[in-house]
Amino acid sequence: MHYRKDVKQVFEELESKDSGISNQEAQKRLQQHGPNELEKAEGESPYQLVLRQLKNPLIFVLIIAAIITLLIGFYVDMVVILAVVVINTVIGFIQEYKADKAMQALMSLSAPKAYVTREGKNEKIESSQVVPGDVIELMAGNTVPADARVFDHKELEVDESMLTGESVPVAKNSEPIDDDSVPLGDQANMVFMGTVATQGRGRAVVVKTGKQTELGSISEKVGSTEKQQTPLQKRLFILTWIIGASSVGLALLAFLVGILQGREVVDMLLFSISMTVAVIPEGLPVAITVTMAIGLTRMAKRNAIVRKLMAVETLGSCNYICSDKTGTITENRMTVTKVFAKDRYFQFKGTGYEPEGEILQSGEKVGDNEDLKKLLLCGMLCNTANLFEEEGEWKIDGDPTEGALIVSARKYGLGVEQEEQFEFVDEIPFSSQRKYMSSVFNYQGKCFIMVKGSPEKILKFTGNGDNKKLAEKYTELADDGLRVLGFCMKELPQKCPENIDIEKESTTDMEFLGFQGIIDPPRESAIEAIRQAHRAGIRVVMITGDHKVTASAIARRINILEEGDLVISGSEIDKNGKEFLAKNVEKTTVYARVSPQHKIDIVEELQKKGKVVAVTGDGVNDAPALKRGNIGVAMGEVGTDVAREASEMVLSDDNFATIFQAVKVGRVIFDNIRKVSFFLIATGAGIAVTILGSLFFGLQLPFLATQVLWMNLVTNSFQHLALANEPGEKDIHLRKPRDPGENVINAEVLRRIIVIAVFIAIGSLYIFWQRIEAGFGIEYARSSALNTIVFFQFFHAWNSRSLNKSVFKIPFFSNPYLFLSLLAAILAQVAVLHLSFMQFVFRTTGLGLRSWAETVGIGLLIIVVMEIDKLIKNIMVKRRGGEVT
Ligand code: ATP
Repeated sequence: MHYRKDVKQVFEELESKDSGISNQEAQKRLQQHGPNELEKAEGESPYQLVLRQLKNPLIFVLIIAAIITLLIGFYVDMVVILAVVVINTVIGFIQEYKADKAMQALMSLSAPKAYVTREGKNEKIESSQVVPGDVIELMAGNTVPADARVFDHKELEVDESMLTGESVPVAKNSEPIDDDSVPLGDQANMVFMGTVATQGRGRAVVVKTGKQTELGSISEKVGSTEKQQTPLQKRLFILTWIIGASSVGLALLAFLVGILQGREVVDMLLFSISMTVAVIPEGLPVAITVTMAIGLTRMAKRNAIVRKLMAVETLGSCNYICSDKTGTITENRMTVTKVFAKDRYFQFKGTGYEPEGEILQSGEKVGDNEDLKKLLLCGMLCNTANLFEEEGEWKIDGDPTEGALIVSARKYGLGVEQEEQFEFVDEIPFSSQRKYMSSVFNYQGKCFIMVKGSPEKILKFTGNGDNKKLAEKYTELADDGLRVLGFCMKELPQKCPENIDIEKESTTDMEFLGFQGIIDPPRESAIEAIRQAHRAGIRVVMITGDHKVTASAIARRINILEEGDLVISGSEIDKNGKEFLAKNVEKTTVYARVSPQHKIDIVEELQKKGKVVAVTGDGVNDAPALKRGNIGVAMGEVGTDVAREASEMVLSDDNFATIFQAVKVGRVIFDNIRKVSFFLIATGAGIAVTILGSLFFGLQLPFLATQVLWMNLVTNSFQHLALANEPGEKDIHLRKPRDPGENVINAEVLRRIIVIAVFIAIGSLYIFWQRIEAGFGIEYARSSALNTIVFFQFFHAWNSRSLNKSVFKIPFFSNPYLFLSLLAAILAQVAVLHLSFMQFVFRTTGLGLRSWAETVGIGLLIIVVMEIDKLIKNIMVKRRGGEVT
């Protein structure tokens, strides 16, 4: 019972200390205790995956077909049909298995990390690598990686509801509890795996990991790997069944008509089976999974990791991006450039975190200046970051804003020597809501209270709340796009009292020291991405905790704030209410000094106006807004576990440009699903209309069931999987966002499916009829019709590469898979017509050169038809004043 022991004893028992264990020891303990993981629930087993393949409507139809062929004594056909069932299941299984594995691997990229101290150094490691004895650091928003005993804490509060059901966060401390049966919820000096720090920070030493933890003991298996299906996938799956059911209905109807026409029952049975097989787009579900897996991999390569598949679909219709400023739009590489100390300005030279650079006043180098020194000292001491040099490069550990303040103090010559003279007593950490930080020190027998925060707060604490002159001073800094912090301090004549009320002391009668203006340059990539987002019909909104003037200056520089756009601050929303927000939400592109609640309100108002909103966030308090957004986007680098959990997508580089990249890939995924569907449904329908047409014209059956299977499952499988790899059209980012309610098969696609199906039917029936008339015999006629259809499919795959653009405008080799799939299809087709074994199985016969030429030539016409269709459509769009993309 670690909660009973005092901290020293716990450290001794675990052979650890507050600077942590060594890396070598950590490795040893990892071997001994195993990874810090709970047993994961099994994902879908390969066996379940195979079973799922069999749930395909086509398989039912095929099994019925196999039974019928058995009953009527067509044994070869039965074997072919069963072989197709097996092949289809195997191909589907392999594709889905690979796609599933790829997606799981991608999603695990956003697995939680832990902050540990080893050999005195702070490190961020995979939570699974944490071992007993590790010293962990807890910050608001992070999930506790293992069960641990707290030994250092500052306002640390932990939400333990997942273990105890208690929804109010529990305050933690490090005092031993002298009782031997304390329930979990009351063990105030312990933190437990899986719970979440909601406030403050603390350090703790790990006592138990993995299955030994409290969470491990209550939950046998966690981490549901429940198969996610997006609404689009569900809709398409239903579509496959609807098409399947209607094809059965149609086949039954054809069967009855045929019987009434006096045809043979056996013929009509084969006929009906062929029809059904032809129509069902059996490849569709697998093709969608594959398309999504390819898309997710592309996104991950561009640093966008999708956590919920749903996002893939929503991204394509996203028309609003609400983004944070600091770190997402800007680089979060802070440098103090201009300082106002007491009553005058100073310029700071130098860039980045290198503590070198002159300090100038009106162009002259500055010598000793007490006011400036006091201000810089306050910034350095009221600080939780560290500045260090690594491989010749200066880096910071902690908040970049605070890092910049250490650097500015170093430039003046303040350093560790001064720091060590101040004995730390206590602090109030910075939070976005509080907007200030306060630190208390003993120095030369006196008590010093140093505070830094937003200028508004600092002026309030110093009794300068309505001091227009000082307000003008910081506005001047903010006007240059600088992030401004104010500083103030207080000196008490004796050492700090034990029970000092820091909050009260920090907020009253403070001495004003000045402001520091920090530059945080906009990311180059964000500027370009914002330009492209605008062209793609996506509005970009900046939501920031920073000052209105700073935010506007930056937003203007990167074209988020343009002529006619509004800037609104959180206090204006509070003052004027939600109606004010609702009225202006579409005109506003910058929101400054906002609270997390404002962020939710903004997103909700936009959604009420029918917008599809992607919203970014990183803190604990951002979680509700991330959940509320159509796509929550968490920051991978600075984001908290809570924010990540609440999001659909994680940006591993925290970069705004990445969101836009993901939007583009989202559009490509939807486009490719549409292309594959167009290809599969149109060719399937083409075969069905051919068969129906033969019935209508009183011809013999143009294909046997096995031949339909051949073209439906062998030749075009290569092609639809290849189409899933389409790279995306060059100008996809110029299109307007898709209407979220729009179906894959919209009216336009449906119209084209009909055009293609009718054309395929005319072409293949003509060849079939012509060969019969010419006295070639039924097998030759069927083989010719089969070849025609296969080449229709072949060329229609090229048509499907773009729904609007001429196929000749798309680079021929930009999808090498398509090229290879066509080669494979041709080889397979030559084999089925000319190898005697295949001829026996599929009842085909070799074609002469002329027949080859004619069938391929007719197949080629499908490109002409589609090109004319695209041309007419594009002319009509242009006439209506639209843009062809
Ligand atoms: P964003 O929401 O885009 O990330 P932000 O980082 O500027 O914006 P906050 O971190 O909430 O938003 O900061 C709000 C204000 O608080 C800043 O404008 C600054 O004046 C002040 N501030 C920021 N960081 C600190 C800090 N570490 N200590 C004291 N004050 C700070």
